[in-house]
Amino acid sequence: MCRHCQEDRYLFARDLCRRCFDQPDIRALYPVAPHGRRGVGRHNAPTPPAEPTDAAPGSAAKLQVLAARAAAGQALFHPRDECLEAPCPVVIEPVRVSVERDAA
Ligand SMILES: [Zn+2]
Repeated sequence: MCRHCQEDRYLFARDLCRRCFDQPDIRALYPVAPHGRRGVGRHNAPTPPAEPTDAAPGSAAKLQVLAARAAAGQALFHPRDECLEAPCPVVIEPVRVSVERDAA
């Protein structure tokens, strides 16, 4: 049911039927629903964060930094954020394996 005309029509956007939505004065009475404004957005380039963080990737501190940046409308990552550059403790060496087949 349309929020404005209360008629049982297919809803277009903002819970309005297409006929009500297409009238700017009616559309202005019903602002965009909160679920339409979540997140930083992909199409509006966010401002880069002013400072890099030394919080380790995946840590609770890094998550707090990311949440603060998102709340401020900033890009989530700074080019000089701490990253995992420690050498990998596992050494992977290639091994050649040959399979000998029985002559049948
Ligand atoms: Zn309507």
